[in-house]
Amino acid sequence: MNFQLGTLVELSIYEGGSKNILTEAFALISSLENKLSRNKEQSEISGININAGISPIEVSDDTYFIINKSIYYSELSKGFFDITVGPLVSLWGIGTAEAKVPPLKEINNLVKLIDYQKIKLTPLNNLVFLEEKGMEIDLGAIAKGFIADKVCELFKEDGVKGAIINLGGDVRLLGRKPDGKLFRIGIQDPFEKRGVAVGVYEGENISIVTSGVYERYYEENGVRYHHIFNPKTGYPADNDIMGISVITEKAIDGDAISTSFFLLGSKEALALAEKLKDTEVIIITKDKRIILSNGINANFTLANNDFILEKN
Ligand code: FAD
Ligand code: MG
Repeated sequence: MNFQLGTLVELSIYEGGSKNILTEAFALISSLENKLSRNKEQSEISGININAGISPIEVSDDTYFIINKSIYYSELSKGFFDITVGPLVSLWGIGTAEAKVPPLKEINNLVKLIDYQKIKLTPLNNLVFLEEKGMEIDLGAIAKGFIADKVCELFKEDGVKGAIINLGGDVRLLGRKPDGKLFRIGIQDPFEKRGVAVGVYEGENISIVTSGVYERYYEENGVRYHHIFNPKTGYPADNDIMGISVITEKAIDGDAISTSFFLLGSKEALALAEKLKDTEVIIITKDKRIILSNGINANFTLANNDFILEKN
């Protein structure tokens, strides 16, 4: 267990792998963090942000891949998922000691800067350019998933047979438990603090990524302001969803989808989940319903009868 990426990183190996593999994995996470974090001055993301409106920057294949994928998810979510939310994330400061509800005028000024269509990519030499000065990329909604996938690849190459990779709620499963049973993953109760589950999901070789408001929020005058912003209003997303877990093969997709769906609300999220291949969702609404997409069936077991289970 380590504190990295501004969150708790837990890597559990059940079978296989060489002696130093955990050390290697934590080092891999650090090196990816150094490349992808906008809080690090020397990162590639900071390079892009500092040069917004000035010049394109050449980035590594990893960074290019994540930004390209992000744009795909912006289009899929009709612009709700947008990694150019950076200036808003800084203004609100949710999750930091400086969190506040900013003046409406400041929010409105920054909303104008948020537009994924102003990210210009040149595939030939991995160039990234933000067209307006002041624009900033923040990969908080997608990079943990990418990093979880990278750790999974490293484990596989090293001969690990069974492992759980958990980067602050972005979970990737490799194989099964040594006794041949499926892994059991607790689904976070979004009304409770981290670690309290509403139910259990059993699976193998999948990723399960959760977005919720149980951890990163700021309260003022009895109102809870969380960290997933509606790029159109500049305020935290406000709909019927309290928390959502997305099951996909790769965690990068689950991460982007969980944030996108959180922004879209349960009806649209569910409709989209049924359309996307190999994508299942567990949606927890504010009125304490748990809605499962079609393909979940016996994998999910409810553990708290305060919630009502609904199948799509
Ligand atoms: P998700 O739903 O997956 O993502 C929410 C995050 O995405 C928000 O916090 C915001 O950053 C961004 N976001 C908000 N609205 C949108 C939107 N509409 N579209 C797209 N993105 C949006 N935290 C720290 O406190 N200190 C650190 O030093 C730090 N370093 C980090 C380095 C890296 C490389 C990464 C990936 C994250 C880092 N974090 C850091 C962030 C921290 O771990 C976040 O809590 C986390 O990324 C949010 O993930 P989530 O699973 O809670 O929510
Ligand atoms: Mg996400």
